[in-house]
Amino acid sequence: MINLVALKDLDTNDFVIKWRLTKYCNVHCSYCIRHEHPAYTKEDIEADEERLCTAAKKLYDLIERTPFNNVKIDLIGGEVSIFDLKKILSNISTKKLKRINMTTNIIKSADYYVSLAEFLKSQDIEFTVTASFHYEFQSAEIYFDKVKKLIPICKLFVCEMVSTDDNQDICKNFIKECESLNVDYMVESDLRLEKTGERKNYISVVNKRFKNPRYHAYFSDGSEKIYGSRNSFLCDKEVDCNVMQNRVNVRGWYCTNSYNYIYVDFNFIRGKIDEKSDCRQIIQLEDFNIVNPSPCHAESCTICGHMSLYKTKEKMNDDIFC
Ligand code: SF4
Repeated sequence: MINLVALKDLDTNDFVIKWRLTKYCNVHCSYCIRHEHPAYTKEDIEADEERLCTAAKKLYDLIERTPFNNVKIDLIGGEVSIFDLKKILSNISTKKLKRINMTTNIIKSADYYVSLAEFLKSQDIEFTVTASFHYEFQSAEIYFDKVKKLIPICKLFVCEMVSTDDNQDICKNFIKECESLNVDYMVESDLRLEKTGERKNYISVVNKRFKNPRYHAYFSDGSEKIYGSRNSFLCDKEVDCNVMQNRVNVRGWYCTNSYNYIYVDFNFIRGKIDEKSDCRQIIQLEDFNIVNPSPCHAESCTICGHMSLYKTKEKMNDDIFC
């Protein structure tokens, strides 16, 4: 078993905004953590869309205020394609914005995504997609038919699905299809019961790391590893902080949350106010100020963002400020 000493996000030189637009999804998969989220009406979606346009204008101001010139936004939900994303994103028309990634169930027609890709291309913004396969609501045939249409319009296209106790055959067919299309894929373990370790009969396979590495991990014995996803790191049984045990114990480690990474929950930031605060403070978009990497206050972290983590200040300084 090896101990982690640093986990560097490979977008370190960029400013990454993870923006959760909604917790609502247009399908309700039995294995989803948002399975029981109440239904939304058309009016609810339209009202949220207006609030998101206002938030987008504030994000534009925030981006312009940062010293970073490469800004990337990851759109997550719920399901983000319930909104008119062109309308929302047209409020963030800044040259600093270099990439939009959306995680989507691609239940909508391929035309929706093609039109969004053309809109972003006209502004020199890269478009990348993480397309989740939800076999309870869309057949593999229809899903891969859309995948074939979307691959050419995206800078990077990743297919993903969740592996549970009882969908092994579906996962294997999914992997086979992805490999025949030569597309990056992630089959991620069902983490709902990770603390008890009850769900062990899953598949966790990522080939994404070869084309799009996400984390660079450094260990106490001097070894290093590259991971393609949060899940592949958390499920690495050779590492002394894997998710089946006690997640990652990073209290006191230096974390770049609120430095070059922020998490926006609908229309406010959940992050650090200053170097002494923990990262769960509610901050209005217009009040955000960059906080230098500072020690984590939490018992453990789910590593669900683009922050980097360093056990010592020296390692962090070497990496971030040199
Ligand atoms: S809990 Fe917050 S401060 Fe701690 S490592 Fe995670 S994101 Fe960073």
